[in-house]
Amino acid sequence: MHQRASIALFHGVNQPFELCERKITAPNKDEVLVQISLATICGSDLHTLTGRRTAPIPCVLGHEAIGRIACPTTVRDAYGEPLHEGDRVTWSIMAACGACDYCNERNLPQKCERLFKYGHAQSIPPHFFNGGFAEHICLRPGTAIYRIPDTISDLEAAPLNCALATVLGGLATLDPTGGASAVVQGAGMLGIYAACCLRERGFEIVACVDRVAERLRIAETFGATHTFNLSEGSAVEIGEALHDLTGGRGVDFAVEVSGAEAALVNSLDWLGIGGSCLTLGYVFPHADVTVDAHKIVTKCLTMRGNHNYHPSALGNALRFVEETGARYPFEELVGAVYPLQDINAAFDRAVQGDLIRVGINPTSEGRPF
Ligand SMILES: [Zn+2]
Ligand SMILES: [Zn+2]
Repeated sequence: MHQRASIALFHGVNQPFELCERKITAPNKDEVLVQISLATICGSDLHTLTGRRTAPIPCVLGHEAIGRIACPTTVRDAYGEPLHEGDRVTWSIMAACGACDYCNERNLPQKCERLFKYGHAQSIPPHFFNGGFAEHICLRPGTAIYRIPDTISDLEAAPLNCALATVLGGLATLDPTGGASAVVQGAGMLGIYAACCLRERGFEIVACVDRVAERLRIAETFGATHTFNLSEGSAVEIGEALHDLTGGRGVDFAVEVSGAEAALVNSLDWLGIGGSCLTLGYVFPHADVTVDAHKIVTKCLTMRGNHNYHPSALGNALRFVEETGARYPFEELVGAVYPLQDINAAFDRAVQGDLIRVGINPTSEGRPF
């Protein structure tokens, strides 16, 4: 084990990351030290950088990450199997206590009273290695750790522990099956994953809505049957098109992953009688939206939010990519990979918004373009 490891420190809104080294101490027996092999920049990291939501400083951001266990451990994986040094692993974005009301009776461990979230904690002694934009991360007790099957590549695996697990965890709360039509608002990483999850669940129509043509093009390779560009057509026009596509009924299921305030309004407009709306995108405060609640009542709609995810969703995410990886080009969703020392360039690239994900590889030269 190296005695020191690099971390990239976030010091505040729109400030450059600072690269520095911190001493690695041997993990406690209930902790797991992981050498990170790939981390991807999530939309939440961009929200933090631009001040849309806050983080304690200094902080090592990054929570979509994978790596290899860096020293011997007696900790077991999420299925109770022993873990070993060298295992390639992913982990839940949070650690839960396992003892509180949310962890038990309410089955919401992702809202644990003593919740710890990776990439959202202050990097101070003795806990420097809390986030993904670093050479190492220390996984705490109460983290669900999963071994990554050999058939899933690093590029496929890195975004799973936030983006895909969030989508699958959200879908599990409403369990939409057998519906004929769905609309996904936002064709970023979550929206693209949502499109292929809904197709795999049997939805015949999966419409995706975004403002970026390139994202909509990518969504088509991930199961979107119809795409609508909000910078070219109005929400009313899209609603009319969905009305026609669904024989005048309106869509059965709406997923909001854009974080755009209008998306919730659109969902209520576009849903048909008995429809359901899953909202996952408002992960920043003050997402104030005015809706015509009359539509919720008269259309008998179900609305559901979800935050973080139940740890079991990460196991489902790995299984989903194993089973469907031949049908969808998951690797291509990571459009560029930068070495850790170029983290500022990586964030500049991510902010441009044309790549679905930008990766940071602390152990190599990266693959920028
Ligand atoms: Zn995230
Ligand atoms: Zn708890």
